[in-house]
Amino acid sequence: MTNWRLPFTQIHLTGRELDYIRRVMESNHFSGDGPFTKQCERWLERATGSARVLLTHSGTAALEMAAILSGVGEGDEVIMPSFTFSSTANAFVLRGARPVFVDIDRRTLNIDPQQVAAAVTSRTRAIVPVHYAGEACDMDALEAIAREAGVMIIEDAAQALLSTWHGRPLGGIGTMGAISFHQTKNVAAGEGGALLVNDPALIERAEIVWEKGTNRSRFHRGDVDKYTWVDVGSSYLPGELIAAFLFAQLEDAESITARRRAIWDQYHAALEPLEQEGRLVRSSSRGNGHLYYVLLRSIEERTEVIEALRRKGIFAVFHYVPLHSAPAGMRYGRTHGTLSVTDDISDRLLRLPLWPDMTGDDVTYVADALAAALGAPLQAGTFER
Ligand SMILES: *Cc1c(COP(=O)(O)O)cnc(C)c1O
Repeated sequence: MTNWRLPFTQIHLTGRELDYIRRVMESNHFSGDGPFTKQCERWLERATGSARVLLTHSGTAALEMAAILSGVGEGDEVIMPSFTFSSTANAFVLRGARPVFVDIDRRTLNIDPQQVAAAVTSRTRAIVPVHYAGEACDMDALEAIAREAGVMIIEDAAQALLSTWHGRPLGGIGTMGAISFHQTKNVAAGEGGALLVNDPALIERAEIVWEKGTNRSRFHRGDVDKYTWVDVGSSYLPGELIAAFLFAQLEDAESITARRRAIWDQYHAALEPLEQEGRLVRSSSRGNGHLYYVLLRSIEERTEVIEALRRKGIFAVFHYVPLHSAPAGMRYGRTHGTLSVTDDISDRLLRLPLWPDMTGDDVTYVADALAAALGAPLQAGTFER
């Protein structure tokens, strides 16, 4: 076991979590859809402009709900980047649909709208943009493509809480959006998520899917006199203990985000000399300060750098194994185009530790360790993304 001087991530505790958890323990409402769940949902509706937010036990669960509500099934195709987490695709594969993996833009690492347009077929039912690192995808271009094709947009906004596209909150733009509160995300509850139902026509069914296929939500509002099984669904709610913890986090979401952005800026300044010397390429855009990555020259160099940082107690990680080259991605999905950017970037990308309570000294320590690990520039001139 390595004793990390700088772990990859750490939750920032606001100080109110235990107080809120104690309130749950005193209230005797431990199951889902209680007062803290409702407070989290109202907070998220205000922050994103979504018509109805449903708290879930993970971002994955929110994507699975979106896939059910989208109505996709056998023979349908859903266009998404290959450069993403398994859950983006898995949610649709569970419905019998086929993910169609397309390449990303080399600068933003977000889905390339030109590739999306070219991948549309008569089988396409949805486009799933992933706002990587909290940086917005080109939503104007994607909305135009979706409108033309008559398909819906479901945003994987797992990393994108409090980020915007020209002033529009991410997750709140598509027909639906999914947010994650996993330990690694900006606002965290260990495991947790939210489905943003932006189309009011889907709200009633979303509540049913959320509550094991029952009309419990309508029953509790007094709209119906029987509480019964009416549709497919599952148990997608978190318990109130999680919601209580999450609400304490959400109350400080703005300051947590500001703090992450400040650390992002510190990294960006500290690594500028290394970029000028052509030894690495820095992150492209700050977004919500979710993550800071650097691009190295090769997968071999990245392996060496990870090991050199580890020896100094710095936990740096990479992702993703592109879904189109993962065993399940090959079995359940298909590709459109060459995906050469995805293959190249996923070999060279390295994520640096970033959490709200990191200090400026921590950032300097990482930057110095990177400088030492990279050695001298291999050749004159710069290398590009
Ligand atoms: C974190 C993440 C998910 C999954 O969220 P969980 O809450 O861990 O289930 C899905 N998509 C992307 C892009 C993510 O970063």
